[in-house]
Amino acid sequence: MMERRATRRDLLMGASALAGAGLIAGTGGGAAARAPLLKTQVPYYYRFGLGKAQVTMVSDGPLPLGDPSGTFLGAAKADITKMLSDNYLPTDNVVLEQNAPVVNTGTHLVLFDTGMGFQKMFGGTTGRLLTSLREAGILPGQIDAIVISHAHIDHIGGMADQRGRRLFPNAKVYLSQADFDFWTDEKKLSDDKVKAFVKHARDNLLPYRDRIVFIKDGQEFLPGITAMAAPGHTVGHMIFMIQSDNRKVCFVGDLTHHQVLLVEKPRLEFAYDTDPKQSAATRVRVLDMLAKDKIPLLAYHFPWPGFGYVSKQGDGFRYHATPMEIVPIPPKKAPEAAPQPAAPAAKKK
Ligand SMILES: [Zn+2]
Repeated sequence: MMERRATRRDLLMGASALAGAGLIAGTGGGAAARAPLLKTQVPYYYRFGLGKAQVTMVSDGPLPLGDPSGTFLGAAKADITKMLSDNYLPTDNVVLEQNAPVVNTGTHLVLFDTGMGFQKMFGGTTGRLLTSLREAGILPGQIDAIVISHAHIDHIGGMADQRGRRLFPNAKVYLSQADFDFWTDEKKLSDDKVKAFVKHARDNLLPYRDRIVFIKDGQEFLPGITAMAAPGHTVGHMIFMIQSDNRKVCFVGDLTHHQVLLVEKPRLEFAYDTDPKQSAATRVRVLDMLAKDKIPLLAYHFPWPGFGYVSKQGDGFRYHATPMEIVPIPPKKAPEAAPQPAAPAAKKK
């Protein structure tokens, strides 16, 4: 027996019947849907295990960069537009995420980069790091270490409040001396091109001056966390290999800002690079290593939560986002507790 296919007319009739019954929002002659449109969203954190360690990604919120032709340099505007539209991305506004990993190594709770803080240079969607931490059940006072990939505004911005007080009272701060020296240099406060960045770096780093530890290329400065020099974006830009048992992940900071533009065409230049040529060379070298060794990466500016792999593709690379796994995290085994009194039996009616 042949099944009768639904015709377009059947579908329209069906829709109008539903609308008549007031079941399609906005079509029912003023009748309201049974449920209101909700204004709540999911919290902005994501947690997964890495060997014996645990990684919690927290977001500082999306950072809209605007028209890409001003920031991604070295290709024709039409080519940039095509790369974006081929990937179903808006072509007039590139929006970067700000994904900050918090790693519990078992001995330390380590936050990597801190977002824009109170600075609203890129609009009002940034600056939610403390909210995301709270949503994730992490208190600022529990952070033992803040590891900074580089001293740009969107990475150091969340360390101090508007009155210059430390927001992470128990944290030591780890970064390269080259970046500290460059971005806190008082003399650059008169350079229009960088003065906003320098002021914000000073406002956030100097309150921690007596607890800053300068780190070097190849140094395992915390158990399982090794710094690797990746200069170009800034003079002392660092990336970090995070290892527990036999699992590792690389936090790449601003090695690449975009999962398409600066992965598929890694030699493009980025307007905020201190040395764009060196930055591109570093990007190609590190992406090549991550692809060859199949090491997953955590990318600060990639689509939330910024966790995935890269593979070689043509003379560039391709990013493969790892699907989020929303699974129960086994609770820590509770200490031996006194036996609980039996719950009172439910009252019988
Ligand atoms: Zn950045």
